[in-house]
Amino acid sequence: MGFVTIGQRRPVSVDTTWRNHAGCKLADVDLFFPAGAGGVSLNDIQAAKAVCQRCQVQDACLQFALETNQQDGIWGGTTEAERRRVRRAWLADLRRQAQASG
Ligand code: SF4
Repeated sequence: MGFVTIGQRRPVSVDTTWRNHAGCKLADVDLFFPAGAGGVSLNDIQAAKAVCQRCQVQDACLQFALETNQQDGIWGGTTEAERRRVRRAWLADLRRQAQASG
């Protein structure tokens, strides 16, 4: 288990043992890191998301991507653009929790 720091926030623990059960371990890595967001890349994105939908560690994978700010590729069934929106909401929630706890 490692630690990362998000902005000026305290370090967040990062558990990577979920990778042992990754549904994409044997998949074509190019599917998960498409060249773009449109055109022929759409087929790769849909194929990668289909693998993610069947993956038993999808939640842990997405959490890891949020905590470590993974900006490229498909993680936890989200594209880069989708993950930016999810991460903004996640960070806002963290800020609310921090403010509520004093
Ligand atoms: S959610 Fe998708 S990217 Fe993450 S480990 Fe599972 S298959 Fe791989």
